Amino acid sequence: MIKQNNVIIIGAGLCGSLLALRLGQRGYKVTVYEKRPDLRKVDISSGRSINLAFSDRGIKAMQLVGIDKKVEPLCIPMKGRMLHDEKGNTILAPYSGRDNEYINSISRGDLNALLLNEAEALPNVTIYFNHKCTNVDFENTTAHFYQYETKTNIVEKADVIFGADGAGSILRKSYYLGKKFLFSFSQNYLTHGYKELSIPPTENGEFKTYKNALHIWGRNSFMLIALPNLDGSFTVTLFLSYNEGEYNFNNLTTKERVLDFFKKYFKDALDLMPNLVDNFFTNPTSPLGTIKCSPWHFKSNTLLLGDAAHAIVPFYGQGMNASFEDVVEFDKFLDDGKDWESIFKAFEKSRKIDTDAIADLAIDNFHEMKGHVNNAIFREKRKLEMALEKNFPTEYSSKYSLVTFNENIGYYKAMTQGRAQDKALLNMIADHDISISKNTTKEELAVILNKIQKETEE
Ligand code: FAD
Repeated sequence: MIKQNNVIIIGAGLCGSLLALRLGQRGYKVTVYEKRPDLRKVDISSGRSINLAFSDRGIKAMQLVGIDKKVEPLCIPMKGRMLHDEKGNTILAPYSGRDNEYINSISRGDLNALLLNEAEALPNVTIYFNHKCTNVDFENTTAHFYQYETKTNIVEKADVIFGADGAGSILRKSYYLGKKFLFSFSQNYLTHGYKELSIPPTENGEFKTYKNALHIWGRNSFMLIALPNLDGSFTVTLFLSYNEGEYNFNNLTTKERVLDFFKKYFKDALDLMPNLVDNFFTNPTSPLGTIKCSPWHFKSNTLLLGDAAHAIVPFYGQGMNASFEDVVEFDKFLDDGKDWESIFKAFEKSRKIDTDAIADLAIDNFHEMKGHVNNAIFREKRKLEMALEKNFPTEYSSKYSLVTFNENIGYYKAMTQGRAQDKALLNMIADHDISISKNTTKEELAVILNKIQKETEE
């Protein structure tokens, strides 16, 4: 294993703090620079992505650094999607037919704080807050920072610099603006943005609606979702077009219009949200985009990781999980004893196909969550898949399960296998070739499984 002492990480978010912890455990001298204040001392959530869906790929990363048991108390299991129709009827659609498979709601701040505590407890890891990176000179491996408290500019040199500075990465920008090598970059926005709202707890601190689910109010061209928090509240997110449709972010400009919109489409949610209007006009509306780029590294000097390398839309609940998985995958290459450039190259070669796949899957899921979950054929498919997973737990996994609960295969394999299964199932259901009812027997399910396997082999 190579040991070059001086490693700089830009960004102490979820990926940067995990990377600092792992590299610290491996004995590197790690210095992390974060532009924001220390979130353990100052509330910096400001109405954006307060909680997240945390699942098996993320858990595997916590196991790598030995803190999975410390993360557990921060988690609220979500067994399925609670689907709310316009009349207020609800159905719980499980995420898996296997009882031990579920996702978790976790507070971004609590998880980040735990990672920072663990990393800072190592004598060879130092974290500086209020240091904004303004430029990276990747040829000389130096990073420039503006120190907010002293209002001074500093330049730091390192043997290696990691950019874990999120979707707006300064390291990535330096590659792009530097024009010193062929750097491919794409950024695609959805026409929809998002705004965070909330359902407060009851006066006794209890949940106002079912706790162990991810609630979805899918309305075809827009949707509302809610994830539970440990204090009994739910963080609610509205995904809506900026300028299309009768109601959109650009024309929801008055209290009356916002209330009309919610009364018409989300009546049962509105009844739980006494602070809706305040939240709506206080919290920001933010865009949703996918970023792909390559190469992630410059020679042996710098590497992008996490959202800085591959930001995705949030509809598979995998952005953080994928960023954590980056660290797990990167860590494997550190065992090879090669030079940094070879490690960076090998890492990107094996990893990019998977991060591109999850980016595409996340867009697919946007459409699935908004509309397909209300569609009869889609619901029949999900019922069949649940029965198959329950009765044949080792033989069948839906696309969702492959992506979310099978941390031992890459996203690309999960995508190709999952899409082939989806296609076979949807065609067979539409052709009335297969169906499911209360009376479907295990033998009949075995025949269906066999048909799917045949279709997907061809
Ligand atoms: P970030 O979390 O963005 O961290 C980057 C860090 O770098 C920040 O601390 C930032 O302050 C710092 N930084 C930025 N610029 C500089 C600079 N110039 N100098 C110094 N520091 C800098 N993922 C899931 O897995 N499950 C979910 O349910 C989920 N839901 C989401 C919902 C929404 C609405 C959004 C927007 C995202 C969601 N994600 C989810 C994705 C997840 O938030 C990201 O994938 C994850 O935060 C990526 O971690 P990161 O550390 O790479 O980037």
